[in-house]
Amino acid sequence: MGEECIFCRIIAGKIPSDVVYQDDRAVVIRDINPQAPKHLLVMPKDHISSLAHTDPGHKELLGHLIGVAREVARSEGLSERGYRVAVNTGREGGQLVPHIHFHLLGGRKLSGALG
Ligand code: AMP
Ligand code: ZN
Repeated sequence: MGEECIFCRIIAGKIPSDVVYQDDRAVVIRDINPQAPKHLLVMPKDHISSLAHTDPGHKELLGHLIGVAREVARSEGLSERGYRVAVNTGREGGQLVPHIHFHLLGGRKLSGALG
């Protein structure tokens, strides 16, 4: 992948974005079209199309991404109030960008299951 994947292009620095965190495996950017006062996207640097494209070998990476979401939530001041981590997967799951990412949403009361 790479050239045609918008998130790979962001990770490579070819498209500007607001990067709030990165390490050797993960990048966190602010969503360009925020659905809440805080809306961040946690993604691996390696291209993986979706959660459905992971396997047990990705267990450590997926755990790392969740931990990154927790730490960024903390640094964004969301831990006390609460927040949501959501992973849209595939066509019927509402996934538009085919590079796995965890939405981190907070800063307002999120209603219902997916408010
Ligand atoms: P999903 O529907 O789960 O694939 O979510 C894709 C998300 O990526 C949406 O919330 C978009 O607003 C966001 N997005 C798309 N392009 C960019 C970009 N260039 N920079 C930041 N966020 C983006
Ligand atoms: Zn990609």
